[in-house]
Amino acid sequence: MKRSYLESSFREPHPRCGFRCVELVAIAAFAVLETTLVTRLALDSAGHGVTLALAVTLALVGIDFLSGLVHWAADTWGTPEWPLVGRTLIAPFREHHEDPLAITRHDFVETNGSSMLVALPAMLLAAAVPLERLGEAARLGVATVTFLAAGAVLTNQAHKWSHTARRPSWVVALQRAGLLVSREHHAVHHRAPHTRAYCITFGWLNPILDRVRFFPVLESWIQAMTGAVPRADDRAHRHEQRAARRALSATR
Ligand SMILES: [Zn+2]
Ligand SMILES: [Zn+2]
Repeated sequence: MKRSYLESSFREPHPRCGFRCVELVAIAAFAVLETTLVTRLALDSAGHGVTLALAVTLALVGIDFLSGLVHWAADTWGTPEWPLVGRTLIAPFREHHEDPLAITRHDFVETNGSSMLVALPAMLLAAAVPLERLGEAARLGVATVTFLAAGAVLTNQAHKWSHTARRPSWVVALQRAGLLVSREHHAVHHRAPHTRAYCITFGWLNPILDRVRFFPVLESWIQAMTGAVPRADDRAHRHEQRAARRALSATR
């Protein structure tokens, strides 16, 4: 019988190194690169206030949108057996539907390491752009990537806090002010079939994306073009779980 998503996790209960070492290196590289990018922007900020303000706005909206897009993709397509993204991205999101509180037991490395790893290529690219020699468009791009990268840390952490019962008072204040996704807001996503409120950083875009049926429309386009069925793996998984439960009750 197929394993449950929880059993398919790529993490061992007490990881010795493996992927955790990759996450630790990613966190160190992220800290160095982000400090470099922010310092460079600060030294070059004179006379570019409008560009930087525009970059912050784009990054704030972009962080929320990307959190929803990546979450939707991992929930909707593929299986935990897929190479690379299967065990590192798809399995954790599917497991999260089966055990929503598991994320609250993850430490800082497990919560944020993967997000930082994913942000590194764009940050490296931004660091390679010579700000002084290029125009305002390049500056806007580099600044947006710099602020978006900071959001990479925020996304999983904000998601974790939306499931955490005891959290710092300043986090509760930010959630109440709508500056981080709240428990009540994120609870909408945890109602089966888990196809609403995908954005997990601020949740600002969820009402708009759900109202215009952004993700269902995207799914039907992809299905029409590729023939792939959304959540096919979930359906097969639920069917097998039901069959296993029936077989178990028949033996009692
Ligand atoms: Zn989900
Ligand atoms: Zn959640």
